[in-house]
Amino acid sequence: MEDKKTSKEQIFNIIAYFLITASILFAVLLLANNTVISGFFTDSENKSFDYRQSLLVKHKNHKPSNDIVIIAIDDGSYEYILDKFGEWPIPRTIYSKIIDRVEEDKPKAVIFDLMFIKSFKSDISADNNLANTMSKYNNIYTAMNFDNQSADVRTPVVLPERMSVKLDNQSKNINIENDFGFSNCRTIIPQIIDSKTKIGMININRSNDGIIRQVPVFAYYNGQYYPHLTLMAGVNLIEGHEVNNYLIDKNSTLIAGNRKIPLTNSGEVVLNWYGQSMRTYKSVPFHKLVKSIQGDKSIEHYNFKNKIVFIGTTAVSLFDTKSVPIDKIYPGVEIHATYMNNLLDNSFIKKSSPTTNAMVIMLLVFLVSFIVFTSTSAVFATTSTVLLAAAYYLSSYYIMSIFNLWIEVVVPLFVILVTFAISYLAKYLLKSRDFEYQYKLATTDGLTELYNHRYFQDMMKKQVDTSRRYEQEFSLIIVDIDFFKKFNDTYGHQIGDAVLRTVAQILKKNTRATDYVCRYGGEEMSIILPQTSKEEAMVNAQRICEAVAKTPLKINNSTEVNITISLGVSSYPQNGDTPQKLIEFADKGLYYAKEHGRNQVGKEQE
Ligand code: GH3
Ligand code: MG
Ligand code: MG
Repeated sequence: MEDKKTSKEQIFNIIAYFLITASILFAVLLLANNTVISGFFTDSENKSFDYRQSLLVKHKNHKPSNDIVIIAIDDGSYEYILDKFGEWPIPRTIYSKIIDRVEEDKPKAVIFDLMFIKSFKSDISADNNLANTMSKYNNIYTAMNFDNQSADVRTPVVLPERMSVKLDNQSKNINIENDFGFSNCRTIIPQIIDSKTKIGMININRSNDGIIRQVPVFAYYNGQYYPHLTLMAGVNLIEGHEVNNYLIDKNSTLIAGNRKIPLTNSGEVVLNWYGQSMRTYKSVPFHKLVKSIQGDKSIEHYNFKNKIVFIGTTAVSLFDTKSVPIDKIYPGVEIHATYMNNLLDNSFIKKSSPTTNAMVIMLLVFLVSFIVFTSTSAVFATTSTVLLAAAYYLSSYYIMSIFNLWIEVVVPLFVILVTFAISYLAKYLLKSRDFEYQYKLATTDGLTELYNHRYFQDMMKKQVDTSRRYEQEFSLIIVDIDFFKKFNDTYGHQIGDAVLRTVAQILKKNTRATDYVCRYGGEEMSIILPQTSKEEAMVNAQRICEAVAKTPLKINNSTEVNITISLGVSSYPQNGDTPQKLIEFADKGLYYAKEHGRNQVGKEQE
């Protein structure tokens, strides 16, 4: 019975405790919804993502695709071009020659991360020549950018139908029109726009801290959707034909041919990085290719057979460098290569859903509060919680490594910390409550809620000790109900119990808060009155006697009875200097009262 009661109490405590923790935590998280704090959380989470990615790049067998090659307009190429052809841009006839040279080897695709815009250097015949060269092959891709430039500066053009794709967006979270909707575009030369060359957008969106972690999939302009350059090229390559219909399903997954690509709520892919700048993909310097085309035999021949060839700038002097999670300076063309590599490997990073996040948080709250609640040592609880946090952090790395899943760590670690603190507080509060309960259980009588016999005996010793030390008096009153046996026989034991409780209440009401009213035994009660003289105690006893006698006790709806009590009084030091002697003396008084008609305080004995 006892065990059952304590385990029930414990279950109650755990639930109470869990609820306290969860509600405070909920309040904290609601507060955290405030933009400053949530901005801090987002930024820190992004940093933790970067950290995981850097570790993965360093330690994981994350093999970049051998199929990807970059023809890099690097710093050397830039200098060479300046020297040979004058200021940027490179004459377009050079690109024509490069295309023909690369296409000789039959590559899978040639993708320009370059925009052939009109420039003061434009030479119509060179532009025509480039467009014609591109048109000879069906695997050439080139780039274009959308923006929100004012119509006064640049009149928005109508783009040909062939450039857009059909998109069925069934996700409630993704709003391309809003997040990647543009009012203008930086058009490229009409010869290419009007040709069959595939054109993709290369808009990029940085995080608050300027780092590129995700890249869009579509831009929205003039009522149409335009695919990202690399997405379009990659999906076409994987499918083996041109894909013009895309679907974003209810779960924010982009269905592109047979590929299922997880998107963020902003309609972007989160890139999974393979390696550091210019050390990841095979790269061929642009100027070397130009030299070899021009007949320089000293240049090693490179074979582009079956390669996916990106052509773009990597020269720091051309300012097309960005910051990415794993590198501060990373050329745009390598971001495209990484995008392509993610498409080929189907390895885009998926962010854990809000439901998953909430479940993880609930689990952590439960675990931490369980640890704190069940552990008896603070060192153990602290160590376990720190280990749990470390294990969680570590697992976030492996989860990203194995499942390409980005589970949040900042909020969960914060939750672990807060839960730990709150749990300790809650545990302390519940413990003191529990202690009070246990103390009460040990010192009171269950029926009357008066102090029990053991407490009475302890208190008597204490009173004798203190009164002796401080040379004070104290008194004791012993109370016995008159003819209680008869009462029980007439009305039953249960009514007898109720009467005992009532008498206990009357005693309490007629004594001071500093007095100790105890159940001495059966239907006998005792009152210890600290710092009270015999005279005062006699008066008090008399008053109690009268109070009981004049209080009618309700037996049932129609019957009321009156009961009486007999009392005996003793005082320290005159009637005894030990608890034993004092009790005996008061008992004698009680006996006297019983002998002399009951319902009275026994006279002092000689
Ligand atoms: P008197 O004291 O006036 O001489 O007569 P009495 O009938 O009260 O005699 P005594 O004090 O010896 O009787 C004690 C009775 O009190 C016996 C028992 O029936 C009753 N009693 C003792 N403890 C309890 C209890 O916890 N509940 C109830 N209902 N009755 C109790
Ligand atoms: Mg008795
Ligand atoms: Mg009695």
